Amino acid sequence: MSKLALPAFLHNRTKGLFINGREVPAASRRTFKTINPATGEVIAEVSAADAEDVDRAVQAARKAFEGPWSKMKPFERQQLMLKLATLVDANFDELAALDTLDLGAPIGRTVLGRRRAVGLLSFYAGLATSDHGLTIPNSTPGEVFTYTLREPVGVVAAINPWNGPIGMAIWKLCPVLASGCTLVLKPAEETPLSSLRLAQLCVEAGVPEGVVNVVTGDGAVGAALSAHRGVDKVSFTGSTDVGQKIIQASATNIKRVSLELGGKSANIVFADADLDKAVPGSAMGVFQNSGQICSAGTRLFVERRIHDEFVERLAAFARGLRVGDPADEETQLGPVVSRKQMDRILGYFSAGREEGASPACGAERLEAGALKNGYFLAPTVFTNVTDDMRIAREEIFGPVISVLPFDDVDEVVRRANQSEYGLAGGVWTRDVGTVHRVAHGLRTGTVWANCYQVMDPAVPFGGFKMSGYGRESGVEHMNEYMQTKAVWINTH
Ligand code: NAD
Repeated sequence: MSKLALPAFLHNRTKGLFINGREVPAASRRTFKTINPATGEVIAEVSAADAEDVDRAVQAARKAFEGPWSKMKPFERQQLMLKLATLVDANFDELAALDTLDLGAPIGRTVLGRRRAVGLLSFYAGLATSDHGLTIPNSTPGEVFTYTLREPVGVVAAINPWNGPIGMAIWKLCPVLASGCTLVLKPAEETPLSSLRLAQLCVEAGVPEGVVNVVTGDGAVGAALSAHRGVDKVSFTGSTDVGQKIIQASATNIKRVSLELGGKSANIVFADADLDKAVPGSAMGVFQNSGQICSAGTRLFVERRIHDEFVERLAAFARGLRVGDPADEETQLGPVVSRKQMDRILGYFSAGREEGASPACGAERLEAGALKNGYFLAPTVFTNVTDDMRIAREEIFGPVISVLPFDDVDEVVRRANQSEYGLAGGVWTRDVGTVHRVAHGLRTGTVWANCYQVMDPAVPFGGFKMSGYGRESGVEHMNEYMQTKAVWINTH
């Protein structure tokens, strides 16, 4: 394996928590190891927080919320966010390298996150000064004037998964800073490094101490945060199972909760589609990030007339992808994040075969030569799949596509909706009428037509059904972080 230049952040290989503007050890002094999934080697020792540390972080965030931060003008918060955007831009190579080490995502992919990171901070900086209440004409007798104030909800706990560490951390941070809330961020235990570096950059940008705190550790840390009575809102991205636990834990003090959960998205290719675009688009709608994307179009419905040709082209495309060293700029797919995740996906390869599906390509671990200690899997396309098979129903979160033939629009929309999830969907066709019918029919938070996995800070993203509730990105994201106060003034 080639080596990435060691990011300066890792010159010290022991990492503390980030509470009240500085790095501190965990109260228990316990640490855990974060592993490079391409090599199985330890990258760093990271502090393992417990309930005492969570409490310290929440108290710091509360104090900051009630302190000078709450007096800052929207323009001042906007300036801080723009300064942070400049710092994130200047340090993005390091942030990308940390994610490549921690997650195993190819460096050619992680560096592309720069545009989104800077774009998010800039977009929400705009929202800091443009979010406002209303004056509302009322019909009350007399002369009573009514208006609404928009006020920040308070201390926000953000709990993240591992599949897009820095992008996800910035996505959670943006509405916090724009609204005037404060944050305790809990990155996934597999990928804590770039979130800790981001907290340092916040301080460098001038964000007051205690506004941004980071507690690292496993699910118990997330559980302590979601039950903590000092937390006003939880913003969670992760699995549906954990999302359900968070809803239960939030009852302690009736926290606000927003949830971005799992998916098993349907991507539908009609026979009239431009196949030169639909083949790579459908493939990379799953295989990018080694399939570790919540909105991956893993149920690929293909119109029967083109099914065999499409599968052949898709498998050829998959076989041509360069899987390997994430530090190499030519690599397109790295390993999956952990041994546990690899074993889980290998289990689905077996389940697919046992239930009668046939791999058109892949369905194996890659361990030749330099790949032997990493968690590399071949991009996989299964055919002869039926809707009831586990590989067609369950979220695999790996580089696996299940191809399902269909015959007409109503049938495919009905089958696409036969999922407990409702995160996203795709449609490939030259017929605008078909685009509308499918976009209208799918019960999902996003529909992509003749493209897949496109995101923008201004466009809301989130789920229907068991993929969660609440929207991130777009103007409506701010609603999750603000509460509305109605003011009545008798002017007579
Ligand atoms: P996960 O739910 O296991 O873990 C996510 C986070 O929750 C981690 O930080 C973990 O430590 C924490 N956690 C674990 N148990 C907890 C508990 N009881 N209380 C509070 N926090 C707890 O998910 P994962 O395996 O890290 O990520 C994969 C999942 O995330 C997939 O299901 C994927 O679809 C989903 N995901 C969704 C989106 C989206 O936007 N909808 C984006 C990315 C990932």
